[in-house]
Amino acid sequence: MSLSNLANQMNQSSSLIRKLFTEGLKLKQIHGKNNVYDMSIGNPCLVPPPEFKKTLISCASENEPYIHGYVPNNGILEARQSVSGLIKNLHNFNVPADNILMTNGAAGAINVLLRCIINPGDEILTFKPYFAEYLWFARVSGAKLIPIPTKFENNFQPEMETISKYINKKTRAILFSNPNNPTGVVYSQSFLNNVGALLDENSKKYKKPIYMIGDDPYQRLVYDGAKATTVFKSTTNSFSISSFSKDLSLAGERIGYLAMHPQQKYASEFIPALTTANRVLGFVNANRLMQKVISKCINYTVDIEEYNIRRKIVINALRRSGAPFVEPKGAFYVFPKVPKGMTDLEFVNILKDRLVLAVPGVAFGTPGYVRICYAYDLNTLKNGMEIFVKTYKEFNG
Ligand code: PLP
Repeated sequence: MSLSNLANQMNQSSSLIRKLFTEGLKLKQIHGKNNVYDMSIGNPCLVPPPEFKKTLISCASENEPYIHGYVPNNGILEARQSVSGLIKNLHNFNVPADNILMTNGAAGAINVLLRCIINPGDEILTFKPYFAEYLWFARVSGAKLIPIPTKFENNFQPEMETISKYINKKTRAILFSNPNNPTGVVYSQSFLNNVGALLDENSKKYKKPIYMIGDDPYQRLVYDGAKATTVFKSTTNSFSISSFSKDLSLAGERIGYLAMHPQQKYASEFIPALTTANRVLGFVNANRLMQKVISKCINYTVDIEEYNIRRKIVINALRRSGAPFVEPKGAFYVFPKVPKGMTDLEFVNILKDRLVLAVPGVAFGTPGYVRICYAYDLNTLKNGMEIFVKTYKEFNG
């Protein structure tokens, strides 16, 4: 056997989305890219704001030694200061630049943090449905991901009583995306505060910190008056992880950050550990040019109304289809049920035969649903959703 057991497991588990992705590419070759309605992967379709491009050109034109050289492993000071300002603006909370680490996207930040808190056999809680990669982020760090069930009838909002049943002596952290990928559901500040209090109670009981990790790359993509929320107001044992992949459309440029609660008891031990993990995991430092650019345009975002327009197209189509769904208030996903008597894999395959691509709920630990991503061009969404409506009605009887 040439591959490790872990690599074999990864191959088996990730084959669903990967297969869909490659099949989508093949379909586009055969039928033409405008005739395949791919609403699967969360790759933002909007161009970054014009200020980003202007700043990028100006930063790249600087002619000085080390313009493309290594930078400190925790990130350049201007970038960390600008993230500190962003957190202040967004959440009215002070996190000094020294408590911030610039990272290779949110995914890099999660991996760096897990390397610093996990011992083999630890458990990481998350809420169902969850971002598919958490399973692997947990596993490669030596932890086990423990998904906590939620109910569609309860708008996928986790119940405190259920959460408390899942906490035990092995629990090390709770990790969740807010707004949620794949449902678009937003967890309120009061809910986060209740979770923080529960974790603090159990940290005392088990005589070790249980960390609250907010995975926040969609915090600025909220609609209908939904509010940004922060783990920092919920417990001092908290970290907020984010990136500019989604709100500035920089997913391929790999720039994000990890911010640590300033009153955290072990803060002085964390900073050097996180900095070293960033380096030895092979990221070394977050992309230097992007750190420079972000420092100057962190307060800009893509036009969020553009995503809101797309959200409404998808919501209206889903209403016409009759498919039950929870109205998304953030991110750019929605998670409707599949027709009765059918699995999500069967429905995804039928849609695929009709050149519409969506991700089965099983990829997010929650079968019986499909994830539709609306970060796509209007032609894809309008035509793709028309086919979805017809197909749903046909198979729901
Ligand atoms: N967390 C969530 C919930 C995501 O949806 C994604 C990307 O889709 C990530 C993390 C990783 O994002 P990044 O590109 O910042 O690594």
